[in-house]
Amino acid sequence: MDVIVIGGGIAGVATAYHLRAAGHRVCVVERHATVAQGATYGQGGTVLPTPLDVWFGPTFMASRHSAKNGVIAKTGFNGPARQFVKQLAGLQEPQAFARQYALLRPLIESSREAMADVEARFGLEFEQASGLLYLVRAAHEWEQSAAALDLLRQFEVPHHVMTPAECAAFEHAVPTEPAFAAAVLFEHERTANCPLFTKLLKQVLDAQGGVQFMPGCEVSTIRLENGRASVELAPREPASRSREIEVIGADAVVVAAGYGSLALLERAGLRLPLYPLRLHALVAPIAHEECVPHVAMVDAVKRVGVSRMNQRLRIAGGAVLQSAGQIDKPLGDAVTKEALALLGQATHDWMPGAARISAALPWEGVKLLSPDGLPVIGNAVHPRLFVNAGHGPAGWGLACGAGKLVAELVSGQTPALAEDTLAALRPQRFQ
Ligand SMILES: Cc1cc2nc3c(=O)[nH]c(=O)nc-3n(C[C@H](O)[C@H](O)[C@H](O)COP(=O)(O)OP(=O)(O)OC[C@H]3O[C@@H](n4cnc5c(N)ncnc54)[C@H](O)[C@@H]3O)c2cc1C
Repeated sequence: MDVIVIGGGIAGVATAYHLRAAGHRVCVVERHATVAQGATYGQGGTVLPTPLDVWFGPTFMASRHSAKNGVIAKTGFNGPARQFVKQLAGLQEPQAFARQYALLRPLIESSREAMADVEARFGLEFEQASGLLYLVRAAHEWEQSAAALDLLRQFEVPHHVMTPAECAAFEHAVPTEPAFAAAVLFEHERTANCPLFTKLLKQVLDAQGGVQFMPGCEVSTIRLENGRASVELAPREPASRSREIEVIGADAVVVAAGYGSLALLERAGLRLPLYPLRLHALVAPIAHEECVPHVAMVDAVKRVGVSRMNQRLRIAGGAVLQSAGQIDKPLGDAVTKEALALLGQATHDWMPGAARISAALPWEGVKLLSPDGLPVIGNAVHPRLFVNAGHGPAGWGLACGAGKLVAELVSGQTPALAEDTLAALRPQRFQ
């Protein structure tokens, strides 16, 4: 089949890879000049989510203060945003949290296998590093993490719970003053450079053939007609407006356009209740080598992750929840400063002296969160239209598994994932 993938982020490129592996001819349409320029560019490095860092569950926004929960609710925060937070708050209840995580878990495992397969086949090097240390400051926050710890045990995820003293013995960069509650070490979990992986995977596809990349092209509309699907491209330059509209036809279209998926799908007749969340990242030069931890760290409650990539530290977090209608407008200096200050403070708190924050490069981007914590993957609206979006904070790790699932669905194969997980991922679940 001929398949168009809209979006050249990690979701789109991983989908193209799996579609090609399944024998299809693929065209990836990306509005930027190259791949990995959207949310994929700013990712924090954590490859696969654990119950401690999914963006739902008992610890998510448990405190109303941004300095404590890491999410800045911008004033003017409107009705739909409040409604969205209310829905996510429903997943703070441990059983609801466990249920959703159990549905996500098969996709996590499938992604782990799919990524290992790509690594083994092509020997890709994308700054992979092992070890993730989750740190929890206050005793009551540690208590709120109990449901996540139960899930780790239930799913037999290898981890070590550490007292502050054990943590300091393992990782000298972590100060024991002021006191903190506990740490959880995942020795086998990984961090890696997602934009680099995306670009390397594109190179693999370029070399193999069968996948055409169309950079600098924006899809304006998806057309769905009887047995075919096609996409209309927006005029590339204002001067070309008078020319005929460029249309590319295919047997199937996959929307993997990150935040851009919402508008495209809405025009195609599918309104998804995904919510755009702005996130920040700092890429800081290392200040003092001896202060840099040898594993990546995550402030588990403020949701700030710090991972080392060569001679830089990538610090990600500083979420801003605002009215969805404001998301395309500049955030404003005061809120940007507040978000970046959260990143700088978390780095200073957990690894003082490691990063030169004053020389860090800031970045901001938008990721899509879903109200039930799970991404949206599946067929929708028309037999030829497929969706792969809404991975929230875990798009890096889930991309390979999600791409494989889309390829199975497009090919008409029975997916390897269990039916309850497939149903929990389907776009129709919101209707
Ligand atoms: C600061 C930050 C930190 C993060 N940290 C992590 C982490 O540690 N671990 C993790 O797993 N995930 C993390 N994430 C989430 C992860 O980065 C995203 O889930 C993932 O990159 C989403 O990939 P995507 O391909 O769906 O979206 P994107 O990367 O946004 O790609 C979508 C692409 O579609 C293109 N596009 C949109 N509309 C159109 C159109 N109409 N026509 C043509 N092209 C279009 C865009 O230009 C873009 O390139 C983080 C995200 C952010 C912002």
